[in-house]
Amino acid sequence: MATIVQKYGGTSVGDPEKLKHVARRVVETANAGNRVCVVVSAMGHTTDQLLELASQVSSAPHPRELDVLLTSGERISMALLAMAINDLGLEAVSFTGSQAGIVTDTSHGKARIVEMKRGRVHDALDEGQIAIVAGFQGVSTDKDITTLGRGGSDTTAVALAASLGADVCEIYTDVTGVFTADPRIVPGAKQIPRVTFEEMLELAACGARVLALRSVEYARNHGVKIHVRSTFVPDEGTWVVKEEDMLEQAIISGVAHDTGEAKVTIQAVPDQPGVAGRVFRPLADAGINIDMIVQNSSAAGHTDISFTLPENDIERAEPVLEELARSVAATGYTIDPAIAKVSVIGAGMRSNPGVAAAVFESLADAGINIEIISTSSIRVSCVVSADEVERAVNVIHERLKLADDVYYDAGGEAAA
Ligand code: ASP
Ligand code: MG
Repeated sequence: MATIVQKYGGTSVGDPEKLKHVARRVVETANAGNRVCVVVSAMGHTTDQLLELASQVSSAPHPRELDVLLTSGERISMALLAMAINDLGLEAVSFTGSQAGIVTDTSHGKARIVEMKRGRVHDALDEGQIAIVAGFQGVSTDKDITTLGRGGSDTTAVALAASLGADVCEIYTDVTGVFTADPRIVPGAKQIPRVTFEEMLELAACGARVLALRSVEYARNHGVKIHVRSTFVPDEGTWVVKEEDMLEQAIISGVAHDTGEAKVTIQAVPDQPGVAGRVFRPLADAGINIDMIVQNSSAAGHTDISFTLPENDIERAEPVLEELARSVAATGYTIDPAIAKVSVIGAGMRSNPGVAAAVFESLADAGINIEIISTSSIRVSCVVSADEVERAVNVIHERLKLADDVYYDAGGEAAA
């Protein structure tokens, strides 16, 4: 008997009809002889609406109370889904994150799971019931209600799959899988049958929004097989698996883009040992995640340092930048929010030279200027102007022939 965890996102449970459709899909899975645990998101845009509501009564909602408020969205979904399943004749029981034994640290709004207790979900499944769990939430080591950050229901599902020893964690959504690029931007983008955890981590970190980054980290660390698929069609979607479980590997899995970052330049920093540390330490201490960094070559003993950070953090970063620019005796700093990051990701890059060159050439041919470049062993990222991002994604997708199937074998030889 297989154990299956299914997670349904906000659009999948967006209204009562859709909830009833999900109920039927869950019942089919259970009737096929599986133990089923379901994780639900809040209906439609409920989380955004709750955030908006909070902002109407408080200019800086207390983080503890905000978490209590936000978790209510998922509780609505779980209760309604359990009712709908009961009507179809199977027994379903809903649980909050706390009841499901999900213990987190105390950082409200972005809590991390620290322990999965063997709780009521296991018992419900042992009794032949379907367990419905509210996504995106847990209880802290201080016994307060916490949330796992936006998109956190994916992490709930993966964590439950790990603790139940599930055969698969199915992530049901409104797209049919992971694509070689955002299909709204690249009409010829192709669905990817399988990606490795490492590739999916890079894709998620670079703006592909189909899975929350932390859920992929958790899945990799615990070896949880993820299947991203559509709620509305029965077809197979995209499997996220270990590299050794890949049957054949595409050289490049996809092009991701992210318009949510801003570029900061600290101008004319003295070119001396210790300066970079003094620039980035205060930002790190303020909890601001820096992404790409370049230090330009030195002119007359001074150098510019540029980097990117999330656009949402600009407000918090500004006083820190102000202070650090003064402390390192820079002439000043600039912030440009109108940039975008375009990233090409593929495990095949390790053994196939020329990917970076092809990316840069395709942008050059299109007359698109590259402001910052950064790489990992399976990724090449370029910062370009925000208004050129769609064109950039398209020309790269075209140049790397991502609409075709190009595979390499273990020896690294490309074969079409
Ligand atoms: N409802 C939460 C959000 O909108 C969590 C989730 O859907 O995963 O971010
Ligand atoms: Mg999501």
